[in-house]
Amino acid sequence: MLANQDKTKDTEKKKTVRKKDAEQADAGKELKKKLQVTFPNLWDKADESERNEAMRFAEEYKRFLDLGKTERTFIQVAVETLEELGFAELASQDYWPAGSKVYQTIRGKGLVAAVMGSGPADAGFNLVGAHVDSPRLDLKPLPIYEENELVFFKTHYYGGIKKYQWPTIPLAIHGIIFRADGSPLTISIGEAPDDPVLTITDLLPHLGSEQMGRKATDLIRGEDLNVLVSSMPYADPELAGRFKLGLLQLLMERYELTEKDFVSAELELVPAGQARDVGLDRSMIGAYGQDDRVCAFTALAALTSLENPERTAVCLLFDKEEIGSEGNTGAQSRAYEYTLQELFVRSYEQPRSQMDFARMLVRCQMLSADVSAAYDPNFASVYDSRNSSYLGHGMCLVKYVGARGKSGTSDANGEFFSRIIRVYDAEGIPWQTGELGKVDAGGGGTVAVYLANLGMEVIDCGVPVLSMHAPFEITSKIDVYHTFNAYRTFFTKL
Ligand code: MN
Ligand code: MN
Repeated sequence: MLANQDKTKDTEKKKTVRKKDAEQADAGKELKKKLQVTFPNLWDKADESERNEAMRFAEEYKRFLDLGKTERTFIQVAVETLEELGFAELASQDYWPAGSKVYQTIRGKGLVAAVMGSGPADAGFNLVGAHVDSPRLDLKPLPIYEENELVFFKTHYYGGIKKYQWPTIPLAIHGIIFRADGSPLTISIGEAPDDPVLTITDLLPHLGSEQMGRKATDLIRGEDLNVLVSSMPYADPELAGRFKLGLLQLLMERYELTEKDFVSAELELVPAGQARDVGLDRSMIGAYGQDDRVCAFTALAALTSLENPERTAVCLLFDKEEIGSEGNTGAQSRAYEYTLQELFVRSYEQPRSQMDFARMLVRCQMLSADVSAAYDPNFASVYDSRNSSYLGHGMCLVKYVGARGKSGTSDANGEFFSRIIRVYDAEGIPWQTGELGKVDAGGGGTVAVYLANLGMEVIDCGVPVLSMHAPFEITSKIDVYHTFNAYRTFFTKL
C-alpha cells in the first residue's frame, strides 16, 4: 500500500512539472510571437479560394505581359484597357468631378491615369508609380550589314544586362519605323507561333577555349550582339553586297522601307514567346520584362478596381527607368509633374494657383512600385539573409535603395513607413521588407528620388523577382496577387 501511494505521489509530481514546462513553453512561444517579427510564407496562409484567386489573377497578368513587351506596347494596351473601362482623356474636359476616370499618355511611352477623389484635391493624391521599360537590345541607327553571306543587325544594349544571356535564344522585334514620307510603321515580328524569329549566334564549345577563359563581362562583348536576320542573296551572282541587298529588297517589297529609314527608327529586340507558368505546381510565373511590368500591371489593376476613392488615386507609368529615368518620357521629366498639375487644376471649377499646386504636392503619398531582388539560395553569398525579400512572402516594402553609403536613394521617412505598416496590418495585407543585397555587394536605384524631389512622401515597394534583368524573370503568383491588394489598399485606406 505504502509503496503504491508513493508511486501515485511521484506521478502527480511529474505531471505537475510537465504541466509547468508546457506552460512555460507556451508562454515563451507567446512572447516570441508578440516580440519578434516574422513574415510568413503566404501559401501557408492562403485557403483554397485565395489560391484560386491568385491563379486567376496570374492569367490576366500573363495575358498583359504577352501584349505589352515594350514600353510602347504596354502603354498601348493600358490605354485600350482604360478606355474600355470608361477612362477619358484628361484634356478632353476642363473640369472633372469626383469619381471621374481620366488618363493622359506621355508621348505614348508613359502614362498618368487617375480616379478623381471625393475629398478635396488640396489634401494631396495617392500615387503608385512603376516603370514599363525593360532591359533589351536596340537596333543601331545603321544596323544592317553583310558578312560571309550572312546578314546581321548591329545592336546597342539598353539597361543593365548580362550580355552572355542573350545569344542562342529566339528574339522578337518590336517598335516603330518611319518611311520617307513620315508615315509610321509598327513592327511586331516573332511572337506568333508561326512568325519567324531572329537570334544571336554563339561559339560552339569545341572552339570555345579562348572565349571560356574570358571574364563573364567579355564572354560576349557589346559588339558581339549581332542579330542574324537573313541569308538569301539578291539574284545577281556578280554583285557585291548582294546578301544585304536581298534583305533591303525584301524590306522594300514587304514594308516600303529603305536603309535610311532605320536611322530614326525605334526597334527593340526582346526575348520571343509568351509568359509561362513555372514549377510543377504552377506557383510561379516566368517571363521577360517582369521588372517592372509586374508592378505596372498590379498598379493599373488596383487603380481600375476603384470606385469613388476619397483621395484622388493616380497610377504613373514611366519610361527610361532602366537607363536613369532621363529624357522627356522618364521620371525626371517635368511632363509628369505638369500632368499632375493638370489633374489638380481640372479637379476644381475655380482657378487654382501655382502655390496651391505646390502645397498639394507636398501632401501627396506615393508608392514607388518596383521589383525587389528575391533571395536566391544559389547565390546566397551576396544577400543578407536577415534583410532580404523572399519569394512567396508578399510585397516587399523597401525604406531605401541606392549603393554604398545609401548613395542615390530618397530613404523613406519613418513616419510615412510606419503609417503604411499600421494600415496594412489593420487591413490584413501581408508585406515583408528587405534590402537589395549585402552592403557594398552592388546597388540600384528607382524612380523614388525624382518624385521625392517634388516634396511628396515616397517609399519603394514591389514584387520579389528571381533572375532580375535576365531574358526570363521569375515571380510568385501569390506575391503578384497580394501586391495588387496592397496597391488597392494604399489607394483606399491611406
Ligand atoms: Mn525596375
Ligand atoms: Mn531594372
